[in-house]
Amino acid sequence: MNKPLKQHLIDPEICIRCYTCEMTCPEEAIVHDDMNVVVDASKCNFCMDCIPVCPTGSIDEWRVVAEPYSVDEQFEWTELPEQEEMGASQDTSIEAMDEAMAALLAEAHAGAGGKAKAPASASKPSINMYTLGKPAEATVQGNYRLTAEGSDTDVRHIILDFGGQPMPVLEGQSIGIIPPGTDADGKAHLPRLYSVSSPRDGERPNYNNVSLTVKREEQGLCSNYVCDLKPGDKVKVTGPFGATFLIPDDPEARLLMICTGTGSAPMRSFTMRRQRTVGARSGGMVMFFGARSPDALPYFGPLKKVPQSLLHQHLVFSRLDGQPKEYVQDRMRAEEDEVADLLQDPKTHIYICGLRGMEEGVEKAFTNIAESIGEQWTALRDTMRGEGRYHVETY
Ligand code: NAP
Repeated sequence: MNKPLKQHLIDPEICIRCYTCEMTCPEEAIVHDDMNVVVDASKCNFCMDCIPVCPTGSIDEWRVVAEPYSVDEQFEWTELPEQEEMGASQDTSIEAMDEAMAALLAEAHAGAGGKAKAPASASKPSINMYTLGKPAEATVQGNYRLTAEGSDTDVRHIILDFGGQPMPVLEGQSIGIIPPGTDADGKAHLPRLYSVSSPRDGERPNYNNVSLTVKREEQGLCSNYVCDLKPGDKVKVTGPFGATFLIPDDPEARLLMICTGTGSAPMRSFTMRRQRTVGARSGGMVMFFGARSPDALPYFGPLKKVPQSLLHQHLVFSRLDGQPKEYVQDRMRAEEDEVADLLQDPKTHIYICGLRGMEEGVEKAFTNIAESIGEQWTALRDTMRGEGRYHVETY
């Protein structure tokens, strides 16, 4: 029967030919010649043992094919082929035969902002290297309170070290933390997702570590577990996840970042990435960041040290004594000219992250600001989304 098949492939453009996957594969399904490292479809049984050992993520490539590509064909490739178009009847059998693949993709798209596309110049993310069945084990390196001691809001900066296990996380991606113990039915808890707040080369440059920004929620099973972690504790981690909420590599891209509370996590990683790579030579970044008060704003102290020329900051507070409530969307309106200038620039990328409730207000602010320059916001937004320049991640 000519059924479509899922085929495991390796991206020849990213693979560094270290052959770790070949040495790991228990089926001897991975082979190489002078050009490429490839997977023999007749031997691969999807055990996934090769996925976490790959230092680049080039191993995590999949195509649904009517006929598998042969080893000899793959040896000739300088880049991966596009996914072939499949007929409707074949699509049905793909769904039926391959739940694992569907789960993999569903996880990858979770939190990626609807039908958003990755920025054209973004680096290629690795996803799903570690799963619930085969998580990575990280060691806690640090746990620091980010909000003032007296503040009701307890937000923590957690640093996780992955030692020798590869964890190639790009800015804007998330990882899953598996809380220990079981639920009422005796089943292991499912992972909770947290955006990374460190850049790809590590919280400390060139260390294999990742930071998270986590707020303690009164009844939160995982947030209390994470916020109470001590240096040296071991943590089970899944991921990385997310393939669209990514920073463009183009240094001239302008970033408009709008966030509330811990939604600032990816914005911190973007800012650090830019600081470490292009600095003030970049197209620039503008941030509207909302919190109840300076005491409750994560990274308030460190942010004050980031020059406004690199990151133009609008810190917006909703509960200051004697002051009217102000939300990010109010400040965007007050700074209409700056936002309008960004909206008109085809190099602008918009990122919105934080409370789901902020979306409506932010949309209205964009609508009014777009009108002021004779643009229709929904049309502009759809164009930006189609070009990989509009990204939303709200919970
Ligand atoms: P929060 O402290 O509850 O709120 C932050 C600010 O947003 C406050 O000033 C709040 O004002 C204001 N706000 C409330 N409703 C708003 C609205 N409709 N429009 C605009 N601003 C509004 O925030 P949080 O608890 O840190 O929550 C952040 C959200 O980000 C969470 O849902 C979290 O899941 C999500 N997130 C977290 C991560 C992560 O990695 N940790 C990543 C992505 C997203 P008032 O309270 O005064 O009304």
